[in-house]
Amino acid sequence: MQEQLAQLKAEVLEKIAAAQDLKQLNDVRVAYLGKKGPITDLLKGMGKLPQEERPKMGALVNETRAQVQEVLDARKVELEAAALDAQLESETIDVTLPGRTVKVGNHHPLTRIIEEIEDLFIGMGYEVAEGPEVEKDYYNFEALNLPKGHPARDMQDTFYISEEILMRTHTSPVQARTMEKAQGKPIRIICPGKVFRRDNDDATHSHQFNQIEGLVVGEDIAMSDLKGTLDLFAKKMFGEDREIRLRPSYFPFTEPSVEMDISCFKCGGEGCNVCKGTGWIEILGAGMVHPNVLEMAGYDPKKVTGFAFGMGPERIAMLKYGVDDIRHFYTNDVRFLEQFHRAED
Ligand SMILES: [Zn+2]
Repeated sequence: MQEQLAQLKAEVLEKIAAAQDLKQLNDVRVAYLGKKGPITDLLKGMGKLPQEERPKMGALVNETRAQVQEVLDARKVELEAAALDAQLESETIDVTLPGRTVKVGNHHPLTRIIEEIEDLFIGMGYEVAEGPEVEKDYYNFEALNLPKGHPARDMQDTFYISEEILMRTHTSPVQARTMEKAQGKPIRIICPGKVFRRDNDDATHSHQFNQIEGLVVGEDIAMSDLKGTLDLFAKKMFGEDREIRLRPSYFPFTEPSVEMDISCFKCGGEGCNVCKGTGWIEILGAGMVHPNVLEMAGYDPKKVTGFAFGMGPERIAMLKYGVDDIRHFYTNDVRFLEQFHRAED
């Protein structure tokens, strides 16, 4: 019986060592140490032994059982550790693998330019004002010194909704509305927005485009304030060494009216394809707010003056980014738009 026990012990220890995972180990435990296992059978069979041998044999079986249990426990710890390692291994992220690229959108080049101009003027204390795109004839024309029948109305081919309602042809009606609401108080606003003209679309024209208009109204606002503001704008937008020049022009809502040119940022004034050989690039129109416009909005033009300016973000974007066709901005061709991806960030 002692021999039988020794053989059994060797057998079970071998199986424990061979167990490759916790399940196999548990199977060994159940098979050898369980209630129906051979060691239990041995204990049960002790009744057949002579009385005097029973304690010795019982002690031996228990000792063997304890030894087996100890080896089994040690193997269990080993296998548990191995299982944990395997799990960690399988869940490891290989950070050297190339990731799947997620397509990230970016700001439209026009949005970029508009926000850049807005930020610039907000930094100078301006507020952003907006108004309706479907506008009354009154705010689009009459309040801006363009009464019905005025020849200058023809300068802007207009989409009429009805006799009195139209698609605004410029952002200037926002000025008229703001002045009317301000009731004689000082104003300093920048008005970005879409405008509409009955134009045939080509490389430089579009029936819908953007404008940014600025308006400052208050006491002692002079032409020199306008010039100083435009000079600062030109330098911040196109480079510190830009110079500006003002040329006389005509707009019904300003008097006097000017066009502002900047020294060419590509050639610096030598003459190139961007400035068409002149060294200067036309950027915007401006002027002192016409007394009639102030008066119609409830200001006393003898006490209060103001200046206004208006520019096209499309034109500025085309110049800044070297875009040769305005239609690129509206066709949403991703190949075009992707070129502006983080270009300025
Ligand atoms: Zn040039």
